[in-house]
Amino acid sequence: MQKPIPFIDLATQRDRIRDRIDARLASVLDSGAYILGPEVRELEERLSEFGGMAATLSCASGTDALILPLMAWDIKAGDAVFVPSFTFAATAEVVALLGATPVFVDVLPDTFNMDPANLEAAIGEVKRAGVLTPRAVIAVDLFGLIADYPTLKPICDKHGLKLISDAAQGYGSTLDAQMAGAWADVVSTSFYPAKPLGCYGDGGAVQTDDTELAEIMRSLRVHGASAKDRYDNVRIGINGRLDTIQAAILLEKLAIFPEEIERRTATAKRYDAAFAGLATPQHVMEGAVSTWAQYTIKVEHGRDRFVAEMKERGVPTVIYYGKPLHRQTAYRDFPCTGNGLAVTDRLSEVVVSLPMHAYLDAETQDRIIAAAQDSLAAIAAERA
Ligand SMILES: *Cc1c(COP(=O)(O)O)cnc(C)c1O
Repeated sequence: MQKPIPFIDLATQRDRIRDRIDARLASVLDSGAYILGPEVRELEERLSEFGGMAATLSCASGTDALILPLMAWDIKAGDAVFVPSFTFAATAEVVALLGATPVFVDVLPDTFNMDPANLEAAIGEVKRAGVLTPRAVIAVDLFGLIADYPTLKPICDKHGLKLISDAAQGYGSTLDAQMAGAWADVVSTSFYPAKPLGCYGDGGAVQTDDTELAEIMRSLRVHGASAKDRYDNVRIGINGRLDTIQAAILLEKLAIFPEEIERRTATAKRYDAAFAGLATPQHVMEGAVSTWAQYTIKVEHGRDRFVAEMKERGVPTVIYYGKPLHRQTAYRDFPCTGNGLAVTDRLSEVVVSLPMHAYLDAETQDRIIAAAQDSLAAIAAERA
């Protein structure tokens, strides 16, 4: 029996930086500065350097990282925020939680990211209907791939909309060597353990070049406290702080993150070469570097069979996202652009993600590749 392959492997990284993390943890535990300790500020500074942005605010989750800027901009009932449906629930949830309306926009069939033409159409529809006020766009860097910000940003500017990069999966992804913050007003990320840059619990961060916005979010993060008098709460906020322990862990994880992105990229290149002509992987635009939160292919015929064949060969697969948000109970009454989200619906039927992480050795990659090639060949033979 061969060892079963894990879909994601957090243990190898843990072994690699065990001593450094354990020393960091001991130091935090001994210090007693469990809330907003010095590691939190240090991490925020390092993240600002890494992301090339003026201000970084760590927070309790990627979800908080999305809701903080929306709260700071006073997005509320009667406002429209344009979001993809082919994403994790949090992207739209934060909008609805504030009483505003998420308006679902379709994605491109090759990159799986927000379709700029469909966004234009959605904004036009909302404006013509005259019921909701368009306020912001949340583009998702799906599976680690930076969205087409150079095209999305001018559309947002033309209509006076704020642009958030939901980089929970794609934090560190670049286009022409620039991260999302080169275009977006705000970059939000998550440090959930399975994300490319994860901690050992929940965590997140929000980045911006707008220092005034950063100050408002800093206040919102701690119950709307005044920067001058912490016992005077000047607005309604949340308890959205990142634990010092998680910040300490992230300092060590961030140090090896660029190298980990390179490792994931090398694995993705091997996958791409192995599946050429057999299945279509997510398309990475010229000049883009993905963080490969997921490596995802389109199996246009017989996806269920593919999943079963892979399982038989000891290789786990996961379907992100089999039920897009506009098909989910809590979200199906929110507006969709045009007559529906045809590309999103189609993708939900054909995508499947393969094991991907920074510590996939060549032998395991070979096993996964052979299993996928055999599974795809079996499906093709049956169809012929
Ligand atoms: C994980 C994720 C989030 C939410 O992050 P949490 O830290 O789990 O709150 C938001 N958006 C996307 C696209 C995600 O993948």
